[in-house]
Amino acid sequence: MSAMRDDSLTEAERARILAKAALFDPPGDVLADGRRDLVGLSRAEMAQALAALDEPAFRVKQLWHWIYHRGVTEFAAMTSLGRPLQTRLAEGFVVGRPLVASCQTSRDQTRKFLFRFRDGQEAETVYIPDREEDRGAVCLSTQVGCTLSCRFCHTGTQRLTRNLGAAEIVGQFMAARDAYGEWPSPADGATRLLSTIVLMGMGEPLYNYANVAKAMTIVMDGEGIALSRRRITLSTSGVVPMMDRVGEELGVNLAVSLHAVRDDLRDELVPLNRKYPIAALMAACRRFPGASNTRRITFEYVMLKGVNDSDADARELIRLIAGMPAKVNLIPFNPWPGSAYETSPAERVAKFAQAINDAGFSAPVRAPRGRDILAACGQLKTTSARARADLAQD
Ligand code: SAH
Ligand code: SF4
Repeated sequence: MSAMRDDSLTEAERARILAKAALFDPPGDVLADGRRDLVGLSRAEMAQALAALDEPAFRVKQLWHWIYHRGVTEFAAMTSLGRPLQTRLAEGFVVGRPLVASCQTSRDQTRKFLFRFRDGQEAETVYIPDREEDRGAVCLSTQVGCTLSCRFCHTGTQRLTRNLGAAEIVGQFMAARDAYGEWPSPADGATRLLSTIVLMGMGEPLYNYANVAKAMTIVMDGEGIALSRRRITLSTSGVVPMMDRVGEELGVNLAVSLHAVRDDLRDELVPLNRKYPIAALMAACRRFPGASNTRRITFEYVMLKGVNDSDADARELIRLIAGMPAKVNLIPFNPWPGSAYETSPAERVAKFAQAINDAGFSAPVRAPRGRDILAACGQLKTTSARARADLAQD
């Protein structure tokens, strides 16, 4: 893998990150010295924190602007706050970031960050530039590892260590912005590189709903990062009872990892199917609030050679989604060390896609991105052993 370059940040990018260096301490929102991280607090929680300093509520607006619109991490740079308040804030609080443990850039410019949190746990975040336009998607992790062990997924071989907190989820996006120098936040709709969030990294977002919801609420806040809910997609392997809440409470786009159209096969590939079988999953999709022809539900379907890629599978898939505002993302299987499957041949994928197209559904084939640095879908895994193995390669 000669294209692999570890720590491929430029000097300027590295300097920007270091300038906002993570406050690298024990887990949670509170540091060893008792200071509290303001990142990840809701507006109400921030107001409480300020009230404890006898500061009025309008300070929240100011702080929010500095933290989430300007991307400032030093209280001393928050000029509208005045010196005495800056000093008191610095005594009690920090504006934290995860530490960049490593960063690799693929030959297709996909970039994988390995972020380290205060307790030393790590998760990967991938920036995927759009091929045509000057923008791209940030793929965020929501858990360290995953409980769900889908058979084709590398993350699934890493046991769940813990959920990520809201600060850690937002922090991945903010630290990626630091690297690309994308502060202050432009108004939504303006061109910027980091313009979309996909919750498709490590972990099952709906098994960490509270933190994911809080993080997305922060990201969507119009006075900060201000990402529109249409620019956020949450991917789930099918945690049916939580899917309604995503639509009702967050209004972000939904992607469902389907991968098989028969329960016997899906039970094997996505073991969560034993709890929430296909019929229950499709019923949840059909009632998903906000789904429409302009806001389709995405069904992700990893193409596994000889396993789920037959014409009969395509026909059954069409039957399952009939009448739904849906599109199908066909993902050529991304292999990882020790994986038991092969990628369906391109002609098979094309034929499968054609059948779905003919039934009136869009079925783009997702081009694998960042495979050379194991940054493509389902290749993320961050045991320290794997990270060390990565670093050892050249
Ligand atoms: N846990 C969530 C989100 C993270 S996985 C979920 O399962 O939806 C993101 C997507 O990558 C899912 O659709 C997942 O099924 C897919 N994926 C996992 N392993 C893969 C692999 N080896 N090749 C291609 N896609 C994979
Ligand atoms: Fe977990 Fe998603 Fe991987 Fe399944 S595909 S093991 S749910 S991260």
